[in-house]
Amino acid sequence: MKSGSGIKPWKVSLHGGHSMPFCDHAHSTLDEILDAAIACGYHTYGVTEHAPRVEPKYLYEEELALGWTVRTLDDLFQVYAKELDAARERYADRLQVLKGFEAEVCPPDRYAEIMSAYKRNLNFDYVVGSVHYVDDIIIDYKTELFQQALEGCGGYEKLAVKYYETLADMVVQLRPEVIGHFDLIRKGFPASQDPHAPRILAAACAALEVVREHDGILDVNTAGYRKGLGGPYPSRELIRLAKDMGIPFCFGDDSHAAADVGSGVEEARLCLLESGVSTITCLAPGEAGMNRIELSLLD
Ligand SMILES: [Zn+2]
Ligand SMILES: [Zn+2]
Repeated sequence: MKSGSGIKPWKVSLHGGHSMPFCDHAHSTLDEILDAAIACGYHTYGVTEHAPRVEPKYLYEEELALGWTVRTLDDLFQVYAKELDAARERYADRLQVLKGFEAEVCPPDRYAEIMSAYKRNLNFDYVVGSVHYVDDIIIDYKTELFQQALEGCGGYEKLAVKYYETLADMVVQLRPEVIGHFDLIRKGFPASQDPHAPRILAAACAALEVVREHDGILDVNTAGYRKGLGGPYPSRELIRLAKDMGIPFCFGDDSHAAADVGSGVEEARLCLLESGVSTITCLAPGEAGMNRIELSLLD
């Protein structure tokens, strides 16, 4: 970060920047996203496109309608890695661009191997480990599929427990630098269901313990505001627990369009400050991999 530039130290996002044509549900190009990142005052922006899903059964309806196959996803991801390298150079004097991707937990029996190979072969700086699937069913896409996962598990409590177990297992297997939207499962909960019921909270705490043991950084993901949850992922309750365990936090705007870039980060900063968190973690390329930098949320 340049000193004296007037840029706030906490203006950093390590999860977001989904872009066209690499993501079927993104609405801006990579350059439009990076221009928006500069315009809203970020000094460091981690771009983390979705990893390819490698089996046809995981393709979204919208992707099938576009005629995409698993080969398309893999090809687009290879191009993404190259274009991100080029963009990083092009923007170097204005923005520190980090090269990441958002890993999936599918297929359950071999995702760790597949995601690690993408990281290694395409020279990514870091990985955001996210759980979008429970028992191999996607939980943040269509209501019918959430219902299917819910029925398969036997209720909200069991589904959430399984979600956190899947997340803990992912952290052990993949060791991602950043853990994406830690309590995403909350998104499918109706108001009548408590996402912090005792058994769920116990499973979330056990997963946080695994995150701590593996030096993970929790993504304070501002998509929670856009999805009407009234706060970021994770919830304030979980932020306080993680803070007491000494787990570091980063911001993630989870942008899928230029208009999402930076949205909710000021609110998330206040939410962290109110929870007693005064620093945010940033990654920076170093001689031997990525270094972590703690930046003040107070400035
Ligand atoms: Zn997405
Ligand atoms: Zn995600």
